[in-house]
Amino acid sequence: MDIVFQKIDIDAQAKLIETVYNKISNGERITREEGISLFDVEDLTTLGLLADLVRWKMHPKNEVSYIIDRNINYTNVCTADCKFCAFYRRPGDSEGYTLDKKTIGEKIQETLDLGGTRILLQGGHNPELKIEWYEDMFGWIKSNYNIILHALSPSEIITISKVSKITIPEVITRLKNAGLDSIPGGGAEVLSDRVRTIIAPGKTSSSEWLDVMEEAHRQGLKSTATMMFGHVETVAERIDHMILCRELQDRTGGFYNFIPWTFHRGNTELDFVLLPEREKTSAFEYLKTVAISRIMVDNIDTIQSSWVTQGLKVAQISLRFGANDFGSLMIEENVVSATGLQYNMTLKKMKKAIKTAGFDPIQRNW
Ligand code: SF4
Repeated sequence: MDIVFQKIDIDAQAKLIETVYNKISNGERITREEGISLFDVEDLTTLGLLADLVRWKMHPKNEVSYIIDRNINYTNVCTADCKFCAFYRRPGDSEGYTLDKKTIGEKIQETLDLGGTRILLQGGHNPELKIEWYEDMFGWIKSNYNIILHALSPSEIITISKVSKITIPEVITRLKNAGLDSIPGGGAEVLSDRVRTIIAPGKTSSSEWLDVMEEAHRQGLKSTATMMFGHVETVAERIDHMILCRELQDRTGGFYNFIPWTFHRGNTELDFVLLPEREKTSAFEYLKTVAISRIMVDNIDTIQSSWVTQGLKVAQISLRFGANDFGSLMIEENVVSATGLQYNMTLKKMKKAIKTAGFDPIQRNW
């Protein structure tokens, strides 16, 4: 549910900044109302300084992490019909595909050869693939390659549960036993059922997404949490998303990375049908949202910048707005690039970007 709020004047903005500064200094939590009002603060630099303060309290070393991994989109067959997605094909479409072991194996080997440590295996809601397909694939991957398997967002796990007619806890247990190491937080979009009904009606509800994550954390799997913003959501809904993740983190401690990134217009139903008048999310709004994420989500260790959607320069600046992780080299990326957006990244470029922003690049493998 949205709330109506008044734009606050310059004196109220100054007072809010002082309150938030004092709370951060004293280790106190920022409330929902304060978080919403932070979006009214016009002084972006001061917001960045507040987020930077939180970042340095949590990460006193002058380091920014990154990972070398590869997105492998094992199938593009999907029944969810998300309006922002240019990647999927309906079952029966001649352009639909499901990768076989040989192709996946070659991609993993290439990743290892490039110094990669992890694969991110994600795909559509494919009604043909039951739990046995995943168990077989995961077991084969783990017995043939020394690679971390970061795979299957909550909506894919729910699809497997439905297609295989077994419970979600059983799906998670069986996938974990087959070699699943951690879960990507994709598909969260904005955790508001109003928003999800508009942009991704075939996907999970907010509570289903959170329930899958809670169960995965309970079974010892770590995960990331994403927030794709800049479409039909309000700033109050962004704050609610942050608070839902914060509350789950209080209960489980299972999130290790919070990843705010922007919806990118291009080739999708959402930008042509729903948002003809809406401009692309600006770098200003992106940086403001990253900063407020760091201020609000005080219990998830890492905030990840998004060079994939923002480009290198804005991603560098975000390192002074609360982000302390540069994300992945992403040897292969299909979903965002299907919208027409593509930035070329190399390891040399990524490390240089982190260094010239004033930090030591540290490769992580989680
Ligand atoms: S975003 Fe994922 S779930 Fe949605 S249509 Fe695309 S492939 Fe399917």
